[in-house]
Amino acid sequence: MKNLTIKNLTEVCSGTYHGPENVMDREVSSITTDSRKIEKDSLFVPIVGERVDAHRFIPDVMSKGALVTLSERELENADFPYIQVGSSLQAVKDIAEFYLKQLQIPVVGITGSVGKTSTKEVIASVLKEKYRTLKTQGNFNNELGLPLTVFRLRDEDQIAVLEMGISDFGEMARLTKIARPDTCVITNIGTCHLENLGDRDGVLKAKTEIFKSMNPKGHIVLNGDDDKLATVSEYNGVKPVFFGLNAERDVYADQIESKGLKGVACRIHLGEDAFDVLVPTPGIHMVYNALAAAAVGRIYGLSIEEIKRGIESLETIRGRFKMIETDKFLVVDDCYNANPMSMKASLDVLHDGEGRRVAILGDMGELGENEIALHEEVGTHAAQCGIDVCICVGALSVHMAEAARKADQEFKVIYEESRESLLEHLGDLVQEGDTILVKASHFMQFEEVVKALEEM
Ligand code: ATP
Ligand code: MG
Repeated sequence: MKNLTIKNLTEVCSGTYHGPENVMDREVSSITTDSRKIEKDSLFVPIVGERVDAHRFIPDVMSKGALVTLSERELENADFPYIQVGSSLQAVKDIAEFYLKQLQIPVVGITGSVGKTSTKEVIASVLKEKYRTLKTQGNFNNELGLPLTVFRLRDEDQIAVLEMGISDFGEMARLTKIARPDTCVITNIGTCHLENLGDRDGVLKAKTEIFKSMNPKGHIVLNGDDDKLATVSEYNGVKPVFFGLNAERDVYADQIESKGLKGVACRIHLGEDAFDVLVPTPGIHMVYNALAAAAVGRIYGLSIEEIKRGIESLETIRGRFKMIETDKFLVVDDCYNANPMSMKASLDVLHDGEGRRVAILGDMGELGENEIALHEEVGTHAAQCGIDVCICVGALSVHMAEAARKADQEFKVIYEESRESLLEHLGDLVQEGDTILVKASHFMQFEEVVKALEEM
């Protein structure tokens, strides 16, 4: 890794080096916190977690060929090189900041209350049409995930698309100091993490901390249909590019037409240019994400053709509204997470499916004291949104089933008390030609249900 010699690493994280002098000019080959992923000449970073203190893996990773390790403690009788630091977590951030500066790769930083991962995926899909693009994997968006993403960058990469997630004031300032984005994208200002941020103005303040360490000659891309973001007129002389569904925005979409489960067709206007595109994931919110990607594509000099191709070739990720065509069914795998809002949105999209439209819905977690009412709300919606069958699974979903039956006595509702009992009966509940939505909170492990359907 460029310029990550033991000598520089020690300096960057204000550590104390213990070990032979003659290896100090060697660069590490990779950086990992996972002792199982150690490679020859890696740097190992032991994190002290709630359950495991990774310092105990140090002898093992060194014997497997790591070049050097960090350690928060002095290691007696160590016969390998190590850098003693005050905090591994702080060291990881300091190293990531230094490393990204060495690479001089442009960075697109994405934040917002909802849709960060989805927007990151479309932006990366567009940029990859012209550049070797590295993007955040999954949801690695916090003070540990962001550095770990930065460590995956190599000299050959031409641009980085980084998701940045926060839950409190000050966090974004620390993330942006590491990422130093050339382009900052904010999807929206919602009502998440209000326990720390107070109200939406607090959320706006916390998210816009992203501008603090951005490139002063960079770009800001904002959802102009968000009332809070629309109030941002400039930052240090950088004027935002606004996107939205209104012709007054700098980048906007019109002629929007749902194509059912295939996605949404629309016409995107970029200044003087315009093009028709199929955004290959359902939901109007995906048009917003595609607009952000079009704006970023334009900033980095992509042609209209490249932007269109990038949007249309977006690959969906398992668990996040991914269509899977099996021999017998069209399965909509949306089992990564669920809350009442996303459940209802997914049910509405299922309505556009072909054959019998079957929803397999499981418990939603972390809903607090209103959990019963919120499950009932989803049940009522399922009965009223025009689908054919709803299979409710789990202890809380009994309330979903009851509410669905009450809302429409003709509507076919099936209740299974657990994922295990569902899997036992699944073969009798579904039919060839069904379109089947599978959705629940993560802890329900509905990926098992998707797998069972795929294997039928
Ligand atoms: P997290 O805070 O967990 O990282 P996130 O901001 O990355 O979340 P996503 O995972 O992209 O958000 O999307 C969460 C849900 O919101 C998905 O179910 C998706 O359908 C919906 N969604 C995606 N993009 C948007 C958007 N621009 N506006 C509103 N909802 C969206
Ligand atoms: Mg995310």
